[in-house]
Amino acid sequence: MLPVVVVHGGAGHIPKERSEKSTSGVCSAARAGYTILQGGGSSMDAVVEAVSELENNPSFNAGCGSVLNVKGEVEMDAIVMDGKTLGSGAVSAVRNIANPVQLARLVMDKTSHACLTAEGASLFAQAMGVPQVSQESLITDYSRMRWKKNLAPDANPVACQMGKMGTVGAVAVDSEGNIACATSTGGMLNKMEGRVGDTPCIGCGGYADNKLGAVSTTGHGEAIMKVTLARLILFHMEQGQSVEAASDLGLAYMKSRVGGLGGVVTVDPQGHWAARFSSLQMAWAAVQKDTLHYGLYAGEHFTQDNNPH
Ligand code: ASP
Repeated sequence: MLPVVVVHGGAGHIPKERSEKSTSGVCSAARAGYTILQGGGSSMDAVVEAVSELENNPSFNAGCGSVLNVKGEVEMDAIVMDGKTLGSGAVSAVRNIANPVQLARLVMDKTSHACLTAEGASLFAQAMGVPQVSQESLITDYSRMRWKKNLAPDANPVACQMGKMGTVGAVAVDSEGNIACATSTGGMLNKMEGRVGDTPCIGCGGYADNKLGAVSTTGHGEAIMKVTLARLILFHMEQGQSVEAASDLGLAYMKSRVGGLGGVVTVDPQGHWAARFSSLQMAWAAVQKDTLHYGLYAGEHFTQDNNPH
C-alpha cells in the first residue's frame, strides 16, 4: 500500500473550458510527488514538490493564478506539517514570492515558530535568499477579470465565490511510514486586505500525525476554521472510521452545522486514501502502486497506468 500521494486542486465549481487543465494539472503534480516517493524520498519532499508544481501552474488559485483581494493584490497562505514530529510551518498574507509552500517549510525547518505573516514573512523570505517576484508575475488575466467582475455594483458575491476553485494541497505516506501534508492558496476572491483563511491554521488547512494520518482541506475558509476540519476528520479516524467515512462525516458536519462547502484529501498510516468533497467539483489525483487515479465530479474515479511504455 505504501508509498502513496494524493493531491487536490481546490473545491468549487469550475467552468467547463478550464476543467481539462485542472485535471491534467493535478495528475502531473501527483506523478511528480510519487516520483520522489519511489526514489526513496520523504513524504514531506513529495507534498512540497506536488504543491510547488501546482503553485507554478496558472490554472490554480495558489502562487501564480492566485485570486486577488479587494484592492486587486495577491496575498497568499500556505502550511506544511510533518507527521513524525508534529512540526509545522506556515505563512499567511505573504506577497511577492512564487512558492509560499516552500517558505512555509523554511518556517518549520529554520525557525522556532509555526507561522509568519505579511511583512515579517517577506523579511524572512529575503533572509533565506528566496527570490522576490513581481506581483504582476503572479496575476493572470483570468484572476483580474474575476476580480473586476466581482467589484461591479450588481455582482453576486455568493455566485462568484462558488465559481472560484483552485486552492491546492497534498498528503502523502512514504515507504518508511512517515506522513506529511501541504496546502497553499490565494484565498477567497475579493477578500479584505489582511484576511487570513483556514489554510495556514494548523488543524484547519491541514494536519498530519504518523499515528493517525493526514488531511489537506479546501473550501470556505471561515467555515473550515469553525469546525477545524482537518483535525475533525482525524478525530473520526481515531474513533475507528475509515479515511472515506471520516472525510464524509467531517464535510457533512461542516455543511449542516455552519453551511460550509469544501473538499479534502486524506490518508491513513496504512496507505488507505480518499478524495471527498461537498462542493460541485474538486480536481484530485492519487498515485499508488503504479496506478494513477483521478476525478473531478462526485463519484468520478478514473484510473490509468502510471508508467505507460
Ligand atoms: N480555503 C481557502 C480559503 O478560505 C479557499 C479555498 O480552499 O478555495 O482561503
